[in-house]
Amino acid sequence: MAIVDLKAAQKWNKIPKDIQEKLIDNVFCGKCGVTTIVDYSMLDDQLGILLQGKCKKCGEAVARLIEDN
Ligand SMILES: [Zn+2]
Repeated sequence: MAIVDLKAAQKWNKIPKDIQEKLIDNVFCGKCGVTTIVDYSMLDDQLGILLQGKCKKCGEAVARLIEDN
């Protein structure tokens, strides 16, 4: 991971590992559809955690917001 926001990391660490893997494997890419996010950074967001990285299949920039429950 390139950038990890401390607050975002704290939120992320509260998510069970199996759920974390499902979130990472279920990111939408404009070219490929559902894909896996790689080389991602983790940023704190008002609504939750924002993952910003690349599509595993094509390398395009992808992002996913994981909302707080
Ligand atoms: Zn893609």
